[in-house]
Amino acid sequence: MTTYLPRSAWTSTARGGAQLTGNQLVGLACHWPGSTTDAYGVETADRVAGRLRGWRAYHVEDRGWSDIGYNFAIDQAGRVWDLRGSARVGAHSASPSNPDANHEFVGVLCIVGDRERPTSAMSAAFWDFRRDVFLRRWPGRTDVRGHREVSGAQTACPGDPVIELTNTPEETDMTPEQAAMLNQVARDTAYIREQNISIARAVVKLATGSDDITASELKAVQDAAAGKDR
Ligand SMILES: [Zn+2]
Repeated sequence: MTTYLPRSAWTSTARGGAQLTGNQLVGLACHWPGSTTDAYGVETADRVAGRLRGWRAYHVEDRGWSDIGYNFAIDQAGRVWDLRGSARVGAHSASPSNPDANHEFVGVLCIVGDRERPTSAMSAAFWDFRRDVFLRRWPGRTDVRGHREVSGAQTACPGDPVIELTNTPEETDMTPEQAAMLNQVARDTAYIREQNISIARAVVKLATGSDDITASELKAVQDAAAGKDR
């Protein structure tokens, strides 16, 4: 069960950030703390509130921002925390080569450590939040990606487990095990499709007398001839 907590659950300070017009908005960008913390695990709300105050202090006092940079946070217990909220421009993804990124994405901090995976409660909370809060406020902004996948980003944020979370399709009629299996099938079929396209490219080039077959096209043909599927 996803729990939604208001801003007042962690701070009495005012929200920062300019009004988000939505003109450039395409979806959600996920982050992680990128700290040296191996695992946060499932913590009490008080503990998480303290962490949020700490990150806010760092962003405001050390970096000179108007508020904590992210729009929302989600913890391992499946709580969704209102930070800057849906109506403000965040400070989380902009870079010199993409200064508008914070207008393109609403930032979600997934409180996941360096050596742990999102719990199923966090994963469910993320997709619940997206459907019930974000897409209601901003219909059609369906893009979901990790910070490092935002154009212009030069960062390792978030780690692979959070990227996997963003790639997990919303399957409300599936168990986590079924959703994981579906992901595997999707990856495998994408791989097979890629191989088939490589073979088709080689065939087309050969059929038209072209000799600029790439190494990967050649390998796909050789693997197919050898009966290999991986
Ligand atoms: Zn980030």
